[in-house]
Amino acid sequence: MRNLLQRPDLYSINTATLGFNSPLPAIIDACAQRGIGAIAPWRRELENQHLPDIARQLAANNMAVSGLCRSSYYTAPTLAERRRAIADNQRALDDAAQLNAACYIQVVGGLAQGSKDLDEARNQVKEGIRQLLPHSRAVGVPLALEPLHPMTTADRSCLCTLRQALDWCDELDPDGEFGLGVAVDVYHVWWDPDLASQIRRAGKRILAFHVSDWLVPTNDLVNGRGMPGDGVIDIPAIRQWVENTGFNGAIELEIFSSYWWQKDINHILDISVDRIAHYC
Ligand code: ZN
Repeated sequence: MRNLLQRPDLYSINTATLGFNSPLPAIIDACAQRGIGAIAPWRRELENQHLPDIARQLAANNMAVSGLCRSSYYTAPTLAERRRAIADNQRALDDAAQLNAACYIQVVGGLAQGSKDLDEARNQVKEGIRQLLPHSRAVGVPLALEPLHPMTTADRSCLCTLRQALDWCDELDPDGEFGLGVAVDVYHVWWDPDLASQIRRAGKRILAFHVSDWLVPTNDLVNGRGMPGDGVIDIPAIRQWVENTGFNGAIELEIFSSYWWQKDINHILDISVDRIAHYC
């Protein structure tokens, strides 16, 4: 397993961690000052930016993009809405390609509005991913299916486990010709009794590794994530399994937290670097 001490070049900061209070160029500068090797921006942050300038700024600082967050939901009551989501995801892939992103993160959507049909939701997602794969291959940015904790099944993700994500990879891209893979986010999968075996199964399909911690108690299902070291997830154990597959991508810190979002970004980044080094 890689030694993370004094190796901020191996870290990535998912910009959600910083609360979306600073423009992307300022975030890149603040990360670069600390030697951080990558960021994972959100699409909303790209809207007012000239992407070639962002790409140049990243390159000038030897920084990469560990992933672009995240897909529009594939589940919707009407075909027209589902088609709109796919077109939207194609445009996002174009942006991801401009930034040379390692992957485009897929948070797939929960139940379609007004529906209780979970099978139908899952079929809609698979159909959407299937239609997006050729464009993903054409622009050279692989799709990373991110299973979310089952508590989000209704409103965010009907994709709930790593096993399910890998089943979909096998179904939609059996030969790996599209590079379809998965994002392993410890917050979403740490509880899973099959985690070690499914990470082993994933092998080269692991495209991203996200870290944060599970606080006890958890007071907010979405925005109550903790800094590594403040909760109960054995992050180094999971990283060991992930790196045993040959994964050598960034260790991406992704924290949605109404607590941390009140802090100054320089303070958050200093703590982040310390916690990745010592608790991941
Ligand atoms: Zn994540």
